[in-house]
Amino acid sequence: MTDPHSRRHTQQAFDPDRRRLLFGATVLPLAAGAGLALAPRRASAALKTSARIVIAGSGLGGIATANRLSRELDGAKITIVDRKEMHNYQPGYTLVATGIWPVEKVVDRNADLHPSGIEWVREMVAEFDPDGNAVVTDSGRRIEYDFLVVATGLHLDYAQIEGMDVDAIGSNGLASVYPSHLAAQATWQAMDAFRAKGGEALMTLPATPLKCAGAPLKMTFMLVDRLREAGTRSASRVEFHSALGNVFSVERINQDVLERWEALDVPVTFNSKLVAIDIGARRASFTSPEGERTELGYDFIHVVPPMRAPDVVKNSPLPWQEGGFAAGGWLEVDKETLRHRRYPNVFGLGDINGTPRGKTAATVKKSAPIVTRNLVDVIAGKEPAERFDGYTSCPLLLREGSALLVEFDYEGRLTPSLPMIDPLQDSYFAWLMKYRLLKPAYIAVAKGRV
Ligand SMILES: Cc1cc2nc3c(=O)[nH]c(=O)nc-3n(C[C@H](O)[C@H](O)[C@H](O)COP(=O)(O)OP(=O)(O)OC[C@H]3O[C@@H](n4cnc5c(N)ncnc54)[C@H](O)[C@@H]3O)c2cc1C
Repeated sequence: MTDPHSRRHTQQAFDPDRRRLLFGATVLPLAAGAGLALAPRRASAALKTSARIVIAGSGLGGIATANRLSRELDGAKITIVDRKEMHNYQPGYTLVATGIWPVEKVVDRNADLHPSGIEWVREMVAEFDPDGNAVVTDSGRRIEYDFLVVATGLHLDYAQIEGMDVDAIGSNGLASVYPSHLAAQATWQAMDAFRAKGGEALMTLPATPLKCAGAPLKMTFMLVDRLREAGTRSASRVEFHSALGNVFSVERINQDVLERWEALDVPVTFNSKLVAIDIGARRASFTSPEGERTELGYDFIHVVPPMRAPDVVKNSPLPWQEGGFAAGGWLEVDKETLRHRRYPNVFGLGDINGTPRGKTAATVKKSAPIVTRNLVDVIAGKEPAERFDGYTSCPLLLREGSALLVEFDYEGRLTPSLPMIDPLQDSYFAWLMKYRLLKPAYIAVAKGRV
């Protein structure tokens, strides 16, 4: 098996360091245009308060909010609840899973990102009691608050796929980029082994809201590129099964991707939902909305799990009670202020929110300042003044050295922030942003600097 950290093929295809010298002077101002530059600090003085604020979740959204609040408030007691010590740069998983980055690049420590002067409770929230203004941790500790920020991320519901075993990712042609940095690394092992000979590949997409809905598409484009690079594309069939009637919710991007796949000979079966897998026998079962079942053999499969709110949120009073977000247990926030619609001292941030689209780190980048300012307004006894437009962004990898920089809002309108990058045009700049600039930008978001 090839060393998963090897970047041999990367250097064969292009030399990013050489290109950086050529393009760096151009790209950095572009990144500033994309909102990656340092934002001006708030001019006003920190608000004096003795408010108790609990932040549930220490991922990007939770930490970014903690850093911002600790600057904007003077005297508040801020408590983060989350057992996780490791911080994973999830947007880098697709780069690890396609053999471009070593896994170490997506591993950091939460302790290095938290602000000083806050309390970090290394436990999980086991119960939300918004009527009692408290959370209860899994050790039974009750923490009362005046204000709550819910930033627990989402739950990958692999259990909905009969026979699926996350621990088996990497063997028997089983791949899935989503669950962890190690799964991303193991996914590259499976892809690397598959591309040596080629064969039948099945790529999947569930019907639920997804974090980084572009990731299943990136994995497909990159698999085709890896097969082409290995000289085994003609010995392979790559087919995509979508449980929906499309492959991406923004129509112009959907059309563009489908046209590209037609040219790359990637057939798509719509309304085809992965429901079961026999990992040892390498067979997968799909159902249609009418209940018709089809079983297919494969040499390589990329499993994308259905996604929903974690049980602790889903089984609490906090989710939507009706409408499209109720079944997944997503947090009932106003999509513009990100304030809870029934509990005015609760805000939501990141993947947990029951809002249209918007489950990306880029969404957190744009919405963490809004949640912070709105919460500070509420603490000051004012109405929240800031409004979020649903900004979502995803550099869609097309092949090594090329990507689309896809940015859109709640309405699915394309909202390009870099005038010189056409969102539908293959771009080396978009690749370079993904490859080199977005990780430092992510860390700056976590530290509340952008
Ligand atoms: C494969 C992949 C590719 C991606 N690509 C991109 C990309 O290209 N661009 C982009 O912008 N975004 C991308 N993303 C999405 C991005 O990583 C997420 O949208 C972002 O991390 C969401 O931040 P969050 O704080 O909401 O959740 P997370 O960062 O997932 O953090 C949630 C935190 O909550 C904690 N938690 C959970 N339950 C509890 C509990 N009961 N009590 C306390 N804490 C709890 C968890 O331990 C975790 O630390 C990608 C994600 C993946 C998986």
